[in-house]
Order: sequence, then structure tokens, then C-alpha cells
Amino acid sequence: MPLEDVYRYVDANQQMFVDDLVRLVKQPSVSARGEGIIECARIVEEMMRNVGFSTFTIPVAQGNPVVYGEIKSKSSQKTLLFYNHYDVQPPEPLEEWTYDPYSGEIRNGKIYGRGVSDNKGNIVSRLKAIQALLETTADVPVNIKFVAEGEEEIGSPHLAPVVQKHKKLFSADAAIWEFGGTDREGRPIIYLGLKGVLSVELRAKAAARDVHSANAPLVPNPAWRLVWALNSIKNEKDEILIDGFQDNVESPLDEEMEYVQKIPFEEEEEKQDLGLSEFLHSVSGLEALKALLYRPTCTINGFLAGYTDKGSKTVLPRKAMVKLDFRLVPRQEADNILKKLKEHLKHHSFNDIEVIEHGSTEPVKTPIDNSFVQTVIKTAKRVYDKQPVVYPTSAGSGPMHLFRNWLGYPVVSVGCAHPESHGHAPNENLTVEGFVKGTKFIAAILYDFGVS
Ligand SMILES: [Zn+2]
Repeated sequence: MPLEDVYRYVDANQQMFVDDLVRLVKQPSVSARGEGIIECARIVEEMMRNVGFSTFTIPVAQGNPVVYGEIKSKSSQKTLLFYNHYDVQPPEPLEEWTYDPYSGEIRNGKIYGRGVSDNKGNIVSRLKAIQALLETTADVPVNIKFVAEGEEEIGSPHLAPVVQKHKKLFSADAAIWEFGGTDREGRPIIYLGLKGVLSVELRAKAAARDVHSANAPLVPNPAWRLVWALNSIKNEKDEILIDGFQDNVESPLDEEMEYVQKIPFEEEEEKQDLGLSEFLHSVSGLEALKALLYRPTCTINGFLAGYTDKGSKTVLPRKAMVKLDFRLVPRQEADNILKKLKEHLKHHSFNDIEVIEHGSTEPVKTPIDNSFVQTVIKTAKRVYDKQPVVYPTSAGSGPMHLFRNWLGYPVVSVGCAHPESHGHAPNENLTVEGFVKGTKFIAAILYDFGVS
């Protein structure tokens, strides 16, 4: 079987692959601040070229470029697209990192650095899987399209028009999404969907300037205005009170619940990792898992008003701001929820509060019985020699709807992270072992998709 040669190639070249990953991690690429973006896009494109991709960069007006590449198969008409992102989250707080976030330090079999698990490890592992196939079989099992965007971590604000404009470039028979990994038992995890997300900012203003808090009987306080508005949006039971918010919400399908029940939800480990004695409202077991995957949410991401430094200051602030995100589930639509939020505020006499949208993505799912999904499940079982854990959907979000809903092909998310990879957090890391296994997994998916 040609895959054995491919695996041998991966093992023999492991150090070189790790070196490439370290090189990519050492290049900052913080989309939130526009740091190192162009340099990082250039390295990704160069790495794709070195593998054998024909590449080009799609410029994005007022945004970060999308790196695009293709390799044609000599033996197959099918096309598999990989969606990745080369941007990373800001590394702060820096003092909580054991090693410099851009060092790519390797200790005890773990590679450390911002972006190593999200999403640079997957970028490199996919490219190396393709390289291994090319080097050992002089072909790729299917046509390959490789997309690396630079704004995923800020909500992919410019990807929709790019996909719209280049529908042909992004067409495929199936896609592999950017994230995934193994659980604590080493079982591969397969995700088939995402929640949508709507990010907004609410702003309240009152007096023309900050004033002495002695004026509180006369001058409205914008911080209180926001607190009251927030109070009208969600109650202490976590019920979202916006009129029509729950309309159309799809409950989990029976065939999905069959898989959800089999998910080994490691809730004690989760709680321990988070330093919690129990989850919100004491939910546990299947109830907690169902809430995580299928419940829409409203989260306060940040709240800013007045004096927050040392000691006290008797001030009445002139403005206040809160950032919120709504995670959405199938049949909810971001635009519609935004409209309902604005109506809600108006209806509750919060006309003075300004609503600013900061981007959105739609909820998305690929059905479990799809043949590509079934291929990936079988491949995972063989490569890891363990029953994979299938999530019919996941709690995260991303621009998957552009590919699944607009272009209409199945999208499956797998990757090489592990439960303590600390994505978005200090000490982000990836195990060398997970990286190497993930590389073999991708090669096997390509091979099995080719022959399926
Ligand atoms: Zn991320």
C-alpha cells in the first residue's frame, strides 16, 4: 500500500517538518494589530511553492491577503480544498508565557508558540502530507486547493466578497477545515459544523464630559444605562429575552444525538483545567454537552467605563461601552438577530444606545451520512487505531458557511491539536507526536478520498 511509503517518508523527515513549523511560528502574524501579516503570508506561499503548489496571493482591499494554491492530480477528477488561516491571536498576557511566544521552543516533546496549534501546525502538517504523497508516489490522489486567509482570528471580515468573486477558485468536491485534534485518550476528533457568531458593541453617552459624581442626581450615567440594557437582554437563568431570538432554532436531530451520546465528554478534566467546581447552572453530562453544542448564547466580552485604575475616583463617566457576542445555531441568521437586538433596545426605551456591528458568521453543518464524512471517519479509525469522536457540530465559529452553504460541498474539520494545546491562551503548544500523526492522517484522507 503506497501509504506505508508515505508514512515512512513522514517519519524520516520529521525533524525537517518540525523546523518548518518553528520557522512559521517565529513569524508573528497578529491580525488584530496588523503585525507581521505580509511577511507571514509570504512564508506560507513560499512553503506551498516548495511543496509543488502553483500559488498566488489574492489581495484584499483594506484587509489581509488570501494565499491560494493548487496542485493537479494526474489520476483523479476529484478536488479537495483545505481551508486554513495564517493569522494568530495576540500573545498577551506575555508574563504568563513560560517561553517567548515567538520562540518555537521545543521542550519535552512539545513545540511552544503563539499560533503553533491554531493554525500554523495544521498548515504545515497539511503541506507536509501533500509533500510526502508527491515525493513517494509522484502524484496527488486528488486535485488539491489550499487556501490560507489572514483574518480568521478577527472574524474573517473580508472573506465573503473574496469567495463570492472567485467562486470557481473555491469550488471543490469537499473541504477539510482548519481545526481539530485528539482527546485525552488519543482518540481523533471530527467536527462537522460550527455555531454562527454575531459580534456587536453597545455604546452609551451622556454628558459632554466626565463630571464630578456629586452631580449623579442630575446627570445620567451611561454605565448604568448599559447595565440596565444588558439586564433586559439576558436574565440570571441565562435566558435570552430578545423577542423572537429563539424563533426557528433547530433542536438536535435524532441521528446527531446518536453521535452526541457517544462523545466521551471529559467534564471533570475540563472543570479542573478551568478551575471550576461545577459548570454554569450545575449542568453536567449529556445536558452540559447538548448546551455546549446546541444552545445559542449571549456573552459579555468586555465592559469599559469610567475609572478602573488604583484606588478610587469619584467620577461620573461621560461614556460607556460593552462588547457582546451572540453564538448562533442552525436556522438563526446573524442579520436577523442584529435586527431583533436593535428592535429590542428600541422597544425597551434604550434608543440612546448605539449598536455597532463587528462582523458575523452563520451557523453551519454537514450531515453525518454524507459520503465524505463517512470516508474521514473510517480513515481516522484506521490511522489512530481508535474509534473517532464525531461532533455533529461544535461550539466554535468561523467562515465555514461560505464554503458549505454558498458553494455546497461537505466540510469536515480535523487537526493535530490536543486538549491542553491552549489555543488563544498563554503557553500555546503542539506535541511533535500529534503533529506527525496529524500529517499521516491528512495523507491518508487524501488517499482514501481518491479511491472512494
Ligand atoms: Zn483561533
